Amino acid sequence: MTAGPAHGSNDPCCEDAGAPAAPRTWTVDEHLADVLAAAAPLPAVEVDLLDALGRRLTADVTAAVDLPPFDNSSMDGYALRAADTAPVALAVVGDIAAGAAELPEVGPGRAARIMTGAPVPPGADAVAPVEWTDGGSGTGEAADAMTAAVAGETVQVLRPVAAGAHIRRRGSDITAGTTVLTAGTLLGPAQLGLLAAIGRATVAVHRRPRVAVLSTGSELVQPGEPIGPGRISDSNSFALAAAARAAGAEAVRIGGVPDDPAVLRRVLQEQLAHADLIVTSGGVSVGAYDVVKEALQPLHGGEDLGGVDFRRLRMQPGKPQGFGRLGKDGVPLLALPGNPVSAYISFELFVRPLIRTMLGAPDVHRPVVSAVCTADLSSPAGRRQFLRGRYGTDGTVTPVGGASSHLVGALAHADCLIAVPEDTTALPAGSRVDVVLLTD
Ligand code: AMP
Ligand code: MG
Repeated sequence: MTAGPAHGSNDPCCEDAGAPAAPRTWTVDEHLADVLAAAAPLPAVEVDLLDALGRRLTADVTAAVDLPPFDNSSMDGYALRAADTAPVALAVVGDIAAGAAELPEVGPGRAARIMTGAPVPPGADAVAPVEWTDGGSGTGEAADAMTAAVAGETVQVLRPVAAGAHIRRRGSDITAGTTVLTAGTLLGPAQLGLLAAIGRATVAVHRRPRVAVLSTGSELVQPGEPIGPGRISDSNSFALAAAARAAGAEAVRIGGVPDDPAVLRRVLQEQLAHADLIVTSGGVSVGAYDVVKEALQPLHGGEDLGGVDFRRLRMQPGKPQGFGRLGKDGVPLLALPGNPVSAYISFELFVRPLIRTMLGAPDVHRPVVSAVCTADLSSPAGRRQFLRGRYGTDGTVTPVGGASSHLVGALAHADCLIAVPEDTTALPAGSRVDVVLLTD
């Protein structure tokens, strides 16, 4: 162990110090692979466009229309025949606003006032911007705006206009029948704008997973409630429900289920009716009153809701974890440890990738970058340690707080996790480390 105030810890994990050796331990990667093994994107649901923001298409989208749907003007000006231009005076035969349905015929020696986005009238093959004309003022001077339309007005076109100038051709952007977005595309503002432009009011995306987030512990009170002796505020259900929503899920928060297996089983039964995923915190360690274990291990006399395997991971924090499937639909349940930092890191490492798989995301993991650590680190042998850190734009990372898994104050000031490999017990300042970026 590094001497002095190195960040990190060689102590056995805070959650279950003194636990007897388990028959099998799992690496972080093995547990993650097990959690993701049967995971698949949820089926498609047709939603209104704005509800599709941040979600992924389940199918290719084909345009049913051309864009633009008709030839239209890209400028405020005069629709005319290119062959008529040079310095010339043209008789104005009409005024075409955007949305106009009835269009004047533009014959030789004529022009029609036309606004941006208005249909190009029959006979015209170009548009002269108003600045290339006198705007119908009769002065022969270049105009900077249009005057009100005057019946029988004449416009002076001051310079030649090429055929096709300032006309946005039908289908020049999108051609009807072509695929405009492919399955799996993440829908952001520009993609939603395109869908609206081609006339789609709804779109098929993966259904958001409904995640039930339960915190367990008879010591928990809800924030705002008076805190009696020995009680603490339930923070996990808020952090984890928020993390589930941030990952793209719908989250239901069930705060403070007491350490009573019968109550927990009843709550789980209720949630199984509609949840795609259940996440619990607390009660998975090796103490007495470890309610999630007691409720879900048939061994403990509980009604068998399904098989949840309680296991030890070679990581710190977050050593005790449970994973299994409940009920007839095999709803996945991840039982996270209770310490707030352990619970949150476990969520980031295991639950978030599962949610993102259900959402059809190709990139289910947080990005990992290499950074130079500014402080000495120590880490327990045989366990991958995740320390909280702040990632600098200069490619450095600085630990925030210590290794203990109750340090919610430091967690709130971290933006990344420093991952120290299983076989590393000490790292001097200046070493390169892997950093898991937590920012969206
Ligand atoms: P457990 O895993 O249930 O033994 O809990 C480990 C530690 O985490 C204990 O100090 C608990 O009081 C604390 N803890 C458990 N659940 C929560 C929660 N929802 N919010 C804050 N702290 C919790
Ligand atoms: Mg507990």
